Amino acid sequence: MTVAMTTKVAEKITNNLAEIRQQLQILSEESPHQQSVKLLAVSKKHSLEAIKAAIAAGQMHFGENYVQEAVAKITQLKEQTTDPVQWHFIGPVQSNKTKDIAQHFDWVQSVEREKIARRLNEQRPDDSQQLNLLLQVNIDDDDNKSGLAPEQVEALAEYVMNCPKLKLRGLMTILKAGTTEDEREKSFQQMYKLYQQLQQTYGEQIDTLSMGMSGDMRQAVLEGANMVRIGTAIFGERES
Ligand SMILES: *Cc1c(COP(=O)(O)O)cnc(C)c1O
Repeated sequence: MTVAMTTKVAEKITNNLAEIRQQLQILSEESPHQQSVKLLAVSKKHSLEAIKAAIAAGQMHFGENYVQEAVAKITQLKEQTTDPVQWHFIGPVQSNKTKDIAQHFDWVQSVEREKIARRLNEQRPDDSQQLNLLLQVNIDDDDNKSGLAPEQVEALAEYVMNCPKLKLRGLMTILKAGTTEDEREKSFQQMYKLYQQLQQTYGEQIDTLSMGMSGDMRQAVLEGANMVRIGTAIFGERES
C-alpha cells in the first residue's frame, strides 16, 4: 500500500469508530437497562495496519476467529508496541488449538464444551493472568452454529468456576441469519434472562453479555448487551 492510501484507510477507520461510539452512547441512554457498552473490534481478515489505525484511535479490545492468523498479528504487534491491547478469541475452538489460544489471548468468548475449558485451564501459562471466559449459547437453536443449549449453561458455568486459571465473565451469542426483528428480540431477551440468572448465582464477576454485530447492534443494546462485536462497520467488508 502507498502511504497516501494507508492514511486514507486509517482515516476511515478512525471515523467509523467515532461514529459507532457515538451510536453506542445514544443507544445505552435509550436502553431500559442504562448499561455502558464495550466495543469489541472484530479484526479477522483485516491487516495489522488496520488494527494499528484502530489502536491509534483508542480502540483496545480486538476479536479474532482464526488462531494462526491471530497469533501472527498478536506476536507482531507485541514486538512493535506496548499498548495494552486485549485479544478476544471469538471463533469455534478446536481442541488442537487450545494451547495457542491459552498462550496468546486474554478472553475466549466461544466456549461450549467442558473439554475445551479443561484444556484452556491446563494450558494457560502460570505467569499469565486468568483467562476471561464467556460461554457461547446457541439461543435460537441454529443447526449451523455451535453453542450450548440454554439448559446446559448452568453445568458448564459450574465447571469453569472450579478452574483456577479461568475467570467466568458471562455469555456470548450469535443469532441465526435471516431472522425477523421479533425473533431477534425474543432471543436477545432470553439471553438477558440467562445472564441475570448467572449473575444471581455467581455475583459481580459476571459482568459481560456479548451480543450484537454490525447488523443487529441496535436491537442487542436495547435488550441489554454490554459488549457488541463489530467488524464490517469499523473495517469495511472482508475478503473471503
Ligand atoms: C465476524 C464476527 C463478528 C463481526 O461481524 P460483522 O458483521 O462484520 O460486524 C462478530 N462476532 C463473531 C462471532 C464473528 O465471527
